[in-house]
Amino acid sequence: MDYFLSEVNLEVRQLAREIAENEIRPVRAKYDEEEKFPWDIVAKLREAGLFGVYIPAEFGGMTEGVDKGITNLVLATEEMSKVCGGISLCLAATALGTLPILVGATVEQKKKYLPKIASGEHLSAFGLTEPDAGSDAGAMKTTAVKKGAKYVLNGTKQFITNAGEAQIYTVMAVTDKSRGSRGVSCFIVEKDTPGFTFGPHEKKMGIRASATRQLIFDNCEVPAENIVGGKEGFGFIHALETLNYSRPGVASQALGIAQGAINEIIPYAHERKQFGQSITSFQAIQHMLANMQSQVEAVRALVYSTSKWIDSGAKKFSKESAMCKLLASEAAMSVTTDAVQIAGGYGYTREYPFEKFMRDAKITQLYEGTSQIQRNEIAAGIIRDVVAGKNA
Ligand SMILES: Cc1cc2nc3c(=O)[nH]c(=O)nc-3n(C[C@H](O)[C@H](O)[C@H](O)COP(=O)(O)OP(=O)(O)OC[C@H]3O[C@@H](n4cnc5c(N)ncnc54)[C@H](O)[C@@H]3O)c2cc1C
Repeated sequence: MDYFLSEVNLEVRQLAREIAENEIRPVRAKYDEEEKFPWDIVAKLREAGLFGVYIPAEFGGMTEGVDKGITNLVLATEEMSKVCGGISLCLAATALGTLPILVGATVEQKKKYLPKIASGEHLSAFGLTEPDAGSDAGAMKTTAVKKGAKYVLNGTKQFITNAGEAQIYTVMAVTDKSRGSRGVSCFIVEKDTPGFTFGPHEKKMGIRASATRQLIFDNCEVPAENIVGGKEGFGFIHALETLNYSRPGVASQALGIAQGAINEIIPYAHERKQFGQSITSFQAIQHMLANMQSQVEAVRALVYSTSKWIDSGAKKFSKESAMCKLLASEAAMSVTTDAVQIAGGYGYTREYPFEKFMRDAKITQLYEGTSQIQRNEIAAGIIRDVVAGKNA
């Protein structure tokens, strides 16, 4: 189907597709098995210029004018996730970590940090979640106390993607407890800052080529000029805005995983013979395939149109962004489970990629807000709109 993608969008998709097929496919099982970070793929993405697809040209990236580059990011993530939903995160999670700078930083901060992220020299990571503050991120306990020209950070961030590998961390911390979520600020913390260390690698079900660790701050002194936007109290707003922009990206990871599973199950099913015929000749299998691709195509239409709308300068899209993530992640889980079903017992073994697609799909229903949290966001949005007379 033609989604009226721009020439730049198509070029980004093609570059990502080539890297996925030529570079990621041969190593995806190894990285999954060894749970190592894919630095050789990072090098290929750097060479192709893909780390800058959502960053403005004036800061070394690719976008011009109001374009936020979300469609570029979505296409690159989808293509890589068709082959490996874990490896695609070296780019997608860097975008997540960079978005607070894009949405809230001063021009000086953007000039300082974005060019090296756009070139891929620096990866980044986003630190919101804490051991006791997941869905309820506003319950965070990490503090940042002003001391002269520095802020002193103390606390722990939980489950941070790219932790230990990234150079740049955007970290939310409480600067004024009495103001609730208005008392949260966002800080740019560089990897080698004294007092900043990482917890052990989490041993995960899926996306095992992606690093997930704690960020530990123990009297970590950060220069006061690293507070995003130069002012206290905007960290929670920056975090929520970041998630609005990034959720179509998670949706595209889910979309890619689902499409990848379909792309690989059809040739398998066509080859596999039972009762003297290919299992694709059974209507039960055909109907599963039809449902799988129909779900994926419906989700793709929503994700692409939302991304294009954001790139055209839309201002309020939290509901649509949440819908993308909710539906894409639910589709990914359903499609990959069906792919394992179609592959039968072989689908359950690591000799075939189907169980990995299913393991990788699950995280998309959990991070950047669980499916329940997306539904809360969507419900709040539709009730607000309809009560205000803005029926769909
Ligand atoms: C592999 C991985 C990578 C991650 N990467 C990052 C990252 O880079 N940066 C970052 O900041 N965080 C990251 N996270 C954290 C992730 O966003 C959280 O795990 C997620 O938001 C859920 O929080 P929780 O795990 O504490 O679950 P909880 O909040 O404890 O939720 C448990 C259950 O309760 C439900 N629930 C909670 N509140 C409600 C409610 N109000 N209504 C209905 N149901 C509710 C949830 O839906 C869920 O089913 C990552 C997590 C993982 C596992």
